Amino acid sequence: MAVLVDIYSQDWMSEEAFKNQIAGLVNEDLRFYPKIGNSADIRMLVTDHLRQGLAARLPGLELIQKLGAGVDTMVSDPELPSHVRITRIKHNVTAMEMARYCLAYVLQDVQNMILHKDKQNQAIWEPIAPKRVTDLTVGVLGLGHIGGAAARLFAEAGFSVIGWSRSLKTMDGIHSVAGADGLQNLLRSSDYVASILPSTPQTENLFDLAKFKLMKPESMLINVGRGTLIVEQDLVTALDHGYLGHAVLDVCRQEPLPEESPMWHHPGITITPHISGWDLDDGLSVVTENYLRLTEGRKLLHEIDRRAGY
Ligand code: NDP
Repeated sequence: MAVLVDIYSQDWMSEEAFKNQIAGLVNEDLRFYPKIGNSADIRMLVTDHLRQGLAARLPGLELIQKLGAGVDTMVSDPELPSHVRITRIKHNVTAMEMARYCLAYVLQDVQNMILHKDKQNQAIWEPIAPKRVTDLTVGVLGLGHIGGAAARLFAEAGFSVIGWSRSLKTMDGIHSVAGADGLQNLLRSSDYVASILPSTPQTENLFDLAKFKLMKPESMLINVGRGTLIVEQDLVTALDHGYLGHAVLDVCRQEPLPEESPMWHHPGITITPHISGWDLDDGLSVVTENYLRLTEGRKLLHEIDRRAGY
């Protein structure tokens, strides 16, 4: 059995660094794209992005191990045969990193940090009371591996937390809701909304003008899930009309965000270039583990449901 590794984003990790992280596989038939060799031997593909046409060149492919969490582009790839399984990385280090990213932007607002910097620039000493976290509600969309970590972090910090997911959850300190009504209630009552949802046919364009109109006028939307969740033109319109106060976007519909996008310079939008979940730490150990499990016919770790799309 051969494993093909395709580190699509070359600036992310070198071949050498990758080999160091998957020491258990170095004695196996490990090939690095584009050196495919006899493609019929390849049963496992390890990649952060499924290259167009690659799956069709691998007739023996059984498993794609995604080097990350979001599998939307793989799941929606019409060329990927239905029997090919997909596993992802679930790492607590990344989850906590993303949870802290969301908390940081919320706390920046709670403590009026940008306002105080403005005052400093004008040499104005003006004590303004921070908001009280116990008076504030954070709505977390998605209570999975990452969303669950974020919801718990907000609850620990003292916020009231509402979490929206497909299935209801029992989580200490988190009010779990589901369905269209649950989402409406969450949007109406949240001061901050952190979206940590996968991109699926059900979540695509979730945030349109009608949803923005439900939000509190001063509220903040933070999107670290996927850019497809937001109708970007509607977001700009909603901010211009004051339906919400601010949006922090770590992900955009088109990445990199095109230079001509009005979102770059909108005063109500903060953009970061898809960096909220960066550190994989030792998360690549799942690659070796899933290779072993595949060869031994055991249950794979972190397999996604291709029909659900996540
Ligand atoms: P999980 O699969 O663990 O969790 C997904 C959550 O979304 C689950 O709670 C699920 O509900 C919920 N969900 C899915 N579809 C719906 C729906 N239609 N309505 C309501 N809730 C829904 O994913 P993770 O938490 O690990 O990751 C979430 C996303 O974050 C990834 O898919 C990826 O797109 C993004 N991401 C972004 C990164 C970045 O750097 N910006 C890095 C890593 C991930 P249920 O629990 O009921 O199934």
